[in-house]
Amino acid sequence: KERVFSGVQPTGNLHLGNYLGAIVNFVKMQSRCECIYCVVDMHAITVWQDPAELRKSIREVAAAFIAAGIDPKTHIVFNQSQVPEHAELAWVFNCVARLGWMNRMTQFKEKAGKDRENASLGLYAYPSLMAADILVYRATHVPIGEDQKQHLELTRDIAQKFNNDYKADIEAAGFSDGLFFPMAEPLITGPATRVMSLRDGTKKMSKSDPSDYSRIALADDADTIAQKIKKAKTDPEPLPSEEKGLEGRPEADNLVGIYAALAEEPKTAVLSQFGGGQFSAFKTALIDLAVAKLGPIGAEMKRLTGDVSYIDGILADGSARARVLASETMRSVKEIVGFVGK
Ligand code: ATP
Ligand code: MG
Repeated sequence: KERVFSGVQPTGNLHLGNYLGAIVNFVKMQSRCECIYCVVDMHAITVWQDPAELRKSIREVAAAFIAAGIDPKTHIVFNQSQVPEHAELAWVFNCVARLGWMNRMTQFKEKAGKDRENASLGLYAYPSLMAADILVYRATHVPIGEDQKQHLELTRDIAQKFNNDYKADIEAAGFSDGLFFPMAEPLITGPATRVMSLRDGTKKMSKSDPSDYSRIALADDADTIAQKIKKAKTDPEPLPSEEKGLEGRPEADNLVGIYAALAEEPKTAVLSQFGGGQFSAFKTALIDLAVAKLGPIGAEMKRLTGDVSYIDGILADGSARARVLASETMRSVKEIVGFVGK
C-alpha cells in the first residue's frame, strides 16, 4: 500500500491556502493510502515562536486536520517533536546533503530576508529535517502546495545520495534492491496548489504574512471572511468571460481560482457565470460560498480546540504509533551507517 506523509507548521493563522493546497488533499488520500499527518512543531521554531502561542497553534492544526475530515484512528495524526527519530535522521541527512544544495533553496532566501547572517541555523537546515520527516516513514507520496516543490526535490536528492553512498551496506542489511529510501513523489494537485495573498496577487498566501487581510484564516467567522473578501485587492476591469482574459491580472485570477476551488468547478465555469460583470457582485457570491464551505470547519475547529484533553489524546496516541514505524527505520539506518549498538 502507498504510504502518504505530509505536515503543516503550527505557526498560527492557518489559512485557505493551507486548506485548498494541502489539507483537502490529505483528506482525499485517506481512502486509498496509509496516511501520516504531522504537526511539524520543530519546523515552526526555525523562526521565533512564543511558547504559549506555539502550544495553542499545535492544537489548532491538529483540530483543523480533524475538522476537515481526517480520521485519526485509521490514520496517524501527531506532532513531530514527540517522535525523536525525526531529529535523529535529520542529523544523518545533514551529513548527506551538500551546502550547495541548501544554498539554492528559495524558501530560505525569502524567510531569511536581508538579514541573512541573523537567520537561525535551523531555518537553513529546514529541508534536511523535512526530508527526514518523510523518509523516516519511507513514505512514497507527499501531498503539498506548489511552494514546497523544491524541498521535495531535495528530499529525493538526499534519498538518492544516501542509497548510493551506502549501497553496499544497504544490501548487507537485507535491502537487496539497494533502494533503502524510496523516491518520494510530490502530489501537487487540485485546483488551488498556490493560493495568493488577498493584498498582492503576486505573493503566496502565508501564515507569516504580517497583514491579517492577506489571508482568510480557517478560524475566521463569517463577518471576518466577508470583510476580508470585500477588502481584497482587485483591478478596475470587469471580470473576463474566458480564462485567457485573466492573464496579467493576478488578483482577479486568484479570486476566480479560489471560487473555482471552493465550488469544485473549473475556472471556465466560474467565468461563464460571472464574466462581464463587476467585481462587487462576484465578491458577494464568493463571500456566500466561502462562508458556506469554511464556516462549518471553523466552527468544528473551535469546538475541538476547546477540548484540550481530547486533542492531546489524539496527538499522544498518534505519536506512539508513529514512533513504532520511525524507530524501525532508524534501527536500519544506524546499522547501515555503521553506528555500533542495538
Ligand atoms: P509559513 O508562512 O509559516 O511557512 P505557510 O502558510 O507556508 O506558513 P506551511 O505550514 O509552511 O504554511 O505549509 C503547509 C502546507 O500548506 C504545505 O503543503 C504548503 O505547500 C501548503 N501551502 C502553504 N501556503 C499555500 C498557499 N498559499 N497555497 C497553496 N498551498 C499552500
Ligand atoms: Mg510555508
